Amino acid sequence: MFRLTVSMFVLCLLSACGRAAAPALRAAPAAPAPIALSAAGEEQGADIAVTRIAHASVLLEMGGKRILTDPWFSETNAYRHGEPLGIALENLPKLDLVIASHDHYDHFDIETFAAYSDKAVPMVVAPEMAEKARTAGFTNVQELKPWQSVQVGDLTVTACPGAHSVEEVTYMLQSHGSTVYFGGDSRLIPEMDELPKRFPSVQLALLPVNGLHAMGKQVVMNADEAAQLAGKLHAEVAVPIHYRFQGNWFTDTFILRYEGSPERFTEAAKTAAPSTQVRVLAPGERLVMTRGAAAQASGSAQ
Ligand SMILES: [Zn+2]
Repeated sequence: MFRLTVSMFVLCLLSACGRAAAPALRAAPAAPAPIALSAAGEEQGADIAVTRIAHASVLLEMGGKRILTDPWFSETNAYRHGEPLGIALENLPKLDLVIASHDHYDHFDIETFAAYSDKAVPMVVAPEMAEKARTAGFTNVQELKPWQSVQVGDLTVTACPGAHSVEEVTYMLQSHGSTVYFGGDSRLIPEMDELPKRFPSVQLALLPVNGLHAMGKQVVMNADEAAQLAGKLHAEVAVPIHYRFQGNWFTDTFILRYEGSPERFTEAAKTAAPSTQVRVLAPGERLVMTRGAAAQASGSAQ
C-alpha cells in the first residue's frame, strides 16, 4: 500500500495532473527597437514579428499570417513556466496556423488549447499527434515527417529533423522570401547539417537553450549547441526560447538538470554565430524585423 501511494505520488509529480490556468501578464511590455534585416530577396510582406509567450510558445507574424508554436497555457505542480505568459490564451489573436514539435504536455497542451474557438485553424504536428488534436475538436490537422512540406496559403511549412525523448520535428516556415526556423526543444543532431543546404537564407531562428537533462540523459540542446546551430543556419537573428521552465522540488532535485541560459547563449553566439544578432525577449515583448526599403532606411539611420 505504501509503495502504491509513493508511486502514485511520484507519477503525479511527473505527470500533468492537477492542471490550472497559467498566470499571464496584465500589460504587454514596450516593444524593442525593430531590426533591419538584409534586403536580399526582399518582397512586399517579407517583414517578420515575433512575440514570446513563454517556454517554446511564441506568436510569429510573417507574410500577413499569425502562427502559434508549441501551445502551453496551463500549469501543474511539476510543470511550471517560471515566468508569466506573455499572451493569455483568451487574448490570442485569430491564428492562421498552429505548429507543434512533439507530444509533451509543455509543448502540446491540447486539452487547454481546446478552449481556442476556431477549431478549423490549420494545425501541423509531428507524426502520431493528429489524433489527439482531432479528439480535442480540431478539424484541420496534418502530421508531417522530416522534409515533408505543406502549404498554408502562401506560407510553406516544412518539418525538419529533431530529436528528443519522444519523436520530435522542428520546422522551417517560408513566406514572401523570409524564412524562420523553429527548434522546438530538440537536441542538436548531425541531421541538422542538412538545414543550410536546403534553406540557405534564414532570417530568424527560435532556438531552445536550457540543455535539459532528464535522469542524466540530455534531451534538449544547450546554449552552446544552440549558438552552433545559429551559426550553421547563418541566421540573421536568433531569439532563445525554452529556458525559464521549472519543475517542483522533487523533479528539480532528483530528475531534471538544466545547463543553459539566454545569457550563456548570447555569449556563445558571439563566436559560434558572429553574423547573428541575438535578442532575448521578455514574455509579451514583440520584436519586429523589417526587410526591403524600410529596412534600408532604418539601417542607414543607425
Ligand atoms: Zn519535451
